[in-house]
Amino acid sequence: MTARPVLVVEDEPKLAALLCDYLRAHGYAPHAVADGPAALAVFADLRPAAVLLDLNLPGLDGMEVCRALRRDSNVPILMLTARVDEIDRVMGLEIGADDYLCKPYSPREVVARVRALLRRSEGALASAHSAPGCSRVGGFMLDEGSLRAWWRDIPLPLTPVEFRLLRTLAQHPGRVFARARLLDAIYADFRDVSDRAIDSHVKNLRRKLQAVLPGHDCIAAVYGVGYRLEMPHEDGRPAE
Ligand code: CA
Repeated sequence: MTARPVLVVEDEPKLAALLCDYLRAHGYAPHAVADGPAALAVFADLRPAAVLLDLNLPGLDGMEVCRALRRDSNVPILMLTARVDEIDRVMGLEIGADDYLCKPYSPREVVARVRALLRRSEGALASAHSAPGCSRVGGFMLDEGSLRAWWRDIPLPLTPVEFRLLRTLAQHPGRVFARARLLDAIYADFRDVSDRAIDSHVKNLRRKLQAVLPGHDCIAAVYGVGYRLEMPHEDGRPAE
């Protein structure tokens, strides 16, 4: 795995060098700049995973840099400050830093905070990708949260049982699912239903899919075993 770049904005050369040493020792790729304009100039090219930002900088100060970065980036920003009275403002919505440390701080503590910030932002990213519970399989879109399904942009009027049936088949297009396996997937409890009960659900699901995919039978019956999904092409042509 390549080292993730971290932008260090600090005007005290010794402190900047110490922070960079610690970050490098912990597997990051630090890049130090000594003032605000340089931070903004480097940011766009470097695309750092996190920013360490000294509040008290010559020229453009840390607050202005933070505000400018926040205009179009959610990069985690750790503010380093000796100005305890400014912490509320720095962490507020107006400035939007993610965390802060007061000077004097230990470089070890800075590295621990950077790691925590990265973990948090990566966790947020992962949950944003899965939050609506939507999955796309070929031209199908399945929304786990609402049990709704679409073929391309056309909604499929499925019952919850039909939704679960389609979801199960769509997890492995082309694989044959035994009736008993499909029953397990569509009923949460162990109902005393015959394997044959699945046939009527399949019949209904097939009819609803044919309404949006005329001329194509998406669900193939495998005699004596069960069913499999035959994915149509995205444009609705039958699979070859
Ligand atoms: Ca400073």
